[in-house]
Amino acid sequence: ILEIQNLNKSFANLKVLKNIDLSVKDKDIVSIIGSSGSGKSTLLRCIAKLENIDSGKIILEDTEIQNDKSNRILSKKVGMVFQQFNLFPHYTVLENISKPLITVNKASKTKSRQRALDLLEKVKLSDKKNNYPHQLSGGQKQRVAIARALAMDPEIMLFDEPTSALDPELCGEVFQTIKDLAKDGMTMIIVTHEMNFAKEISDRVVFMDNGIIVEEGPSEKIFNTPKNERTKRFLKRTI
Ligand code: ATP
Ligand code: MG
Repeated sequence: ILEIQNLNKSFANLKVLKNIDLSVKDKDIVSIIGSSGSGKSTLLRCIAKLENIDSGKIILEDTEIQNDKSNRILSKKVGMVFQQFNLFPHYTVLENISKPLITVNKASKTKSRQRALDLLEKVKLSDKKNNYPHQLSGGQKQRVAIARALAMDPEIMLFDEPTSALDPELCGEVFQTIKDLAKDGMTMIIVTHEMNFAKEISDRVVFMDNGIIVEEGPSEKIFNTPKNERTKRFLKRTI
């Protein structure tokens, strides 16, 4: 459902993504691993239409994602979850999910509220619906962020280090929410430094270094028998 062809992206003189090719099939779970600065977040942001690209193609469900400077809202087909939650602080948990449905999707108040309630049940936060973000733990905030992204009925969910801002004991609940999504057949790309999680959940793993995809393959292959020297070195350092 997602096809990236020969994607290039730079910031001023810095080439951040170089000739990236990647294809993701329906229900695929792809993890992207790699050192800091290798271009992982930038790649996700290009797919989510949060960055313009220099050249190449990003095709989602047969539609090419176009550069569009005037209208940098997240493509509705793409749900994105950030490291830093990005919730609206002055909205309740319920409103964080329902308001965008009303403003962006022009859904009715009643329908938006019901959809938000259903999603809160799914991420097991029904009891927090009237709380504000500052009253939640990090793990709970991230689950609200996931529910909010799901509200738009995305074709694909992108996670950019969803647990790296969390205390270790809170990572598990977010991993569990992502695993539940996997069970439901959601297509996902996950950038993570949590190698055990990547290993467990992914169908495929992509290793990026310095703006290029160095190696990709089935999870067990990349983790157990990586071919490329750079992949080997990276995995030795991190596991
Ligand atoms: P990390 O694991 O630390 O999150 P990353 O793989 O996600 O790293 P990116 O955030 O994609 O890396 O950054 C890739 C390169 O692009 C880095 O050298 C970074 O400094 C640069 N970069 C990212 N965003 C911008 C920007 N808005 N303007 C200029 N340079 C940027
Ligand atoms: Mg990043």
